[in-house]
Amino acid sequence: MEQAFLQFLANQTTSLAAGSVGIGDDAAMLSWGAEQKLVVCTDLISDETDFLLHEVTPQQIGRKALAINLSDIAAMACEPVGALLTLLLPQGESSLDLAKGIYEGAAELAESYGCPIIGGDTNSWPGKVAVSVTVLGRCPGPQPLLRQGAQPGDAIAVTGKLGGSILGHHLSFEPRVREALELHQNFHLNAGMDISDGISIDLPRLCQQSRVGAEIDARLLPISDAAHQRSEKTGKPAWWHALNDGEDFELLFTLPAEQMDRLATQWTESVPITKIGTVREASPLMLIDLEGTRQPLLPEGFSHQ
Ligand SMILES: [Mg+2]
Repeated sequence: MEQAFLQFLANQTTSLAAGSVGIGDDAAMLSWGAEQKLVVCTDLISDETDFLLHEVTPQQIGRKALAINLSDIAAMACEPVGALLTLLLPQGESSLDLAKGIYEGAAELAESYGCPIIGGDTNSWPGKVAVSVTVLGRCPGPQPLLRQGAQPGDAIAVTGKLGGSILGHHLSFEPRVREALELHQNFHLNAGMDISDGISIDLPRLCQQSRVGAEIDARLLPISDAAHQRSEKTGKPAWWHALNDGEDFELLFTLPAEQMDRLATQWTESVPITKIGTVREASPLMLIDLEGTRQPLLPEGFSHQ
């Protein structure tokens, strides 16, 4: 199987920068600017934990495995440069088609983000399919965007709309790479991350790194259509889904109030940006509900099984 898959890979075209070495040699090679910082992240997804093989296409698995890593590179406001794709496949004849499909899904997204697949590995075993992607990124400025650095008084903002990702967004989302780079280059962001488990779980992580508290206003949350659909099924308010559903893969960031004002007037990208709250001195996180009542913000989002 591995030889057949390598043969398939040998016939694929990837856009590599001049002077780079991709799949086919013992290791990949990338040119790197002097003094530029390397950022690197990796994520593993597997059948039955992160997706159900009989409910998704191989291409969707490959796309998602890469997209979640691109979202982490975006969270650092860095540029993806190259990806490694490693597959652990069930033994059997159908694995070659599965491997090809996963590669194709990842490669298509890789191409559109200028992040070629430059290597990886594959193996078979008597178990379920698992896909690991590692992405290498370059920090274009002096510093990446970190979770630490949020200041009391900062506005808290998000890209896009939130909630209901399970209805399809978690397989088709666009990592906010371009938006993060533009934000970090043109505005003074103090801290940021991507939303993978839901704001109610992810925001405390940012606050912990920054040693601050925060207040989120449920009335300001940008609620997706899917969150409204989920709400009709679950009986929970749509804003609850926007706050707690996982896998939005939007950016969550903080910036001084005057920078937020400037952003609100100068942002021209199609992806909306919404202020959803304010950073406070270190204290329990608070939620302002639809009636304007302050209550503790509880971590009710998605946690990995
Ligand atoms: Mg992340």
